[in-house]
Amino acid sequence: MASVDETSLSRPFSAAIRQENVERLAREEFDLLIVGGGITGVAVARDASLRGFHTALVEKDDFGSGTSSRSSRLIHGGIRYLEYYQFKLVFEACNERRVMRKIAPRLVRPLPFLYPLYRGQKPAPWKLRAGLMLYDALGLFRNVQRHRWLHPPEVQRREPLVAGRGLLGAARFYDAQVDDARLTLMTAKAAHLHGAVMVNHARVVGLMRAGGRVVGAHVVDELSEREIEVRAKVVVNAAGVWVDRMREMDERYEGPMTRPTKGIHLVIPRARLSSQHAVVFDSPRDRRHIFLIPWGDFSLIGTTDTDYQGDLNNPAASLDDVEYLLEAVQHTFPGAQIKHDDIISTFAGLRPLIFAPGGTYALSREHEIVESPSGLITIAGGKLTTHRLMGEQLTDRVQKRLAEEFGIHARSECRTKEPLEGAQIERVRVSGVDEPVGKHLVESYGGDVTWVLAYAEENPSLGEHIVPTLPYLMAEALYAVQHEMALSLCDVLIRRTHVIYEARDGGLKRARAVAELMAPRLGWDEAEIERQVADYAAQMALTQQWRGKTR
Ligand SMILES: Cc1cc2nc3c(=O)[nH]c(=O)nc-3n(C[C@H](O)[C@H](O)[C@H](O)COP(=O)(O)OP(=O)(O)OC[C@H]3O[C@@H](n4cnc5c(N)ncnc54)[C@H](O)[C@@H]3O)c2cc1C
Repeated sequence: MASVDETSLSRPFSAAIRQENVERLAREEFDLLIVGGGITGVAVARDASLRGFHTALVEKDDFGSGTSSRSSRLIHGGIRYLEYYQFKLVFEACNERRVMRKIAPRLVRPLPFLYPLYRGQKPAPWKLRAGLMLYDALGLFRNVQRHRWLHPPEVQRREPLVAGRGLLGAARFYDAQVDDARLTLMTAKAAHLHGAVMVNHARVVGLMRAGGRVVGAHVVDELSEREIEVRAKVVVNAAGVWVDRMREMDERYEGPMTRPTKGIHLVIPRARLSSQHAVVFDSPRDRRHIFLIPWGDFSLIGTTDTDYQGDLNNPAASLDDVEYLLEAVQHTFPGAQIKHDDIISTFAGLRPLIFAPGGTYALSREHEIVESPSGLITIAGGKLTTHRLMGEQLTDRVQKRLAEEFGIHARSECRTKEPLEGAQIERVRVSGVDEPVGKHLVESYGGDVTWVLAYAEENPSLGEHIVPTLPYLMAEALYAVQHEMALSLCDVLIRRTHVIYEARDGGLKRARAVAELMAPRLGWDEAEIERQVADYAAQMALTQQWRGKTR
């Protein structure tokens, strides 16, 4: 078992390293500065640092705190895009699904899907089967299994809760699922390991210019409120739904590049609507696809797709959103009788889709890279699934600029198809905790589980559960500060763990205990502990906001 002597780690991804990194931001000049620590930004950081570029990344809140912790958590080819003839997107996504399963097998796990079809429903079975043959082909027949068509008795045997009336059969196929926040974090950690200077809770408030070119950014360290000038040869705008805010800071802003649309999910206990597959079903209102996705002891139901003009920082599910999903669930799983009270929590995210007129559902999920006359490179659109490819294409662009304008050359080709550090399946022996906890720890931390267990062994109170009903241990909060650059209570309870979504009260009763554990490591006094708990309570309230509303 690992000793708890932190000095044995040369460069842990810790709160202390972040402080060093803030100093480096002020002191050094970078080849590239990336704005945004969502999956897109961290993918660029990993790629660029692996190629040997001197890379910095700043994130205004926490890694993954934007859209990248609020997705459906699928690494998928996107079968529905075939309806819109987006063959290139599906081909790329199927390819990336294969790459991600190979390079991050502990995080990206195969997930069987079931797509039941009913009399009178579109598409017709032959069309769905033709689509799935194409899906298999676009995946070069290298998915876990090829699709299969199941007749009604087999569908009902495998998923008894699926409505039987009018059922014509179901297609069974494979995609994959991932903890989006953890994938983002592990990619950020990998970038750090390869030399990128990663700083969360640091916001870009302006761009630095010289001779009409962007030469860096004004960054505010949100912890100390210190403003820093960060110099960089190339600035990359990977700010998700905020990319246009960044572009407004540029000289000649030419109107929005993105059209944010909101998508929400419901979290319910798996015991209330249990499925072995992710089940695809239609909304009776508008025929959009909805997923029922198994997630440990929970089921996620999502998603919606509506234009969004509200506060980009705090999207929340509305009563309308919730009822839209419930109506669809009740239609396909009438026997389960899912009601408002079954919903533990909700989460809402904003898609940074490329601006185009027309309905939101049909908007393209492809990404775009644009360069402004002053040299700001913006990347928007895309998917969690295709983040590695987006990172590669963006870094190619940066590499070309650095070579042509500055004579700086990459040390190597793109290496992001190499195994993602810390995301491999390792044989680890876990003792002293019960089976669900052991499973959760190994799935979340791989070989690093020894750190969590060492903390718990040294101080038995850290072996307690954060919330009695969930497998998360108090030791994980400490690990998050020491090894995962967690700097706030929200970082720990929302993204390093998912207590906020999985506990009935969002774990609010235990929030103070977690904050008190983090306090000495982060230098929090009593007032700061109070502030942390209040911030968390506000985030928790957003997940339940729909309950107080009447239409
Ligand atoms: C409901 C929903 C479901 C989805 N499901 C899936 C799915 O199952 N599979 C899939 O492949 N894709 C899915 N997606 C799409 C996917 O989640 C997004 O494409 C992806 O997460 C976008 O990542 P990003 O890094 O571009 O944006 P973000 O994750 O939002 O990252 C941008 C970051 O920039 C930071 N930032 C902004 N301004 C500044 C500033 N001034 N200074 C510093 N930092 C700044 C933000 O804080 C943010 O963290 C889904 C999206 C939604 C909304």
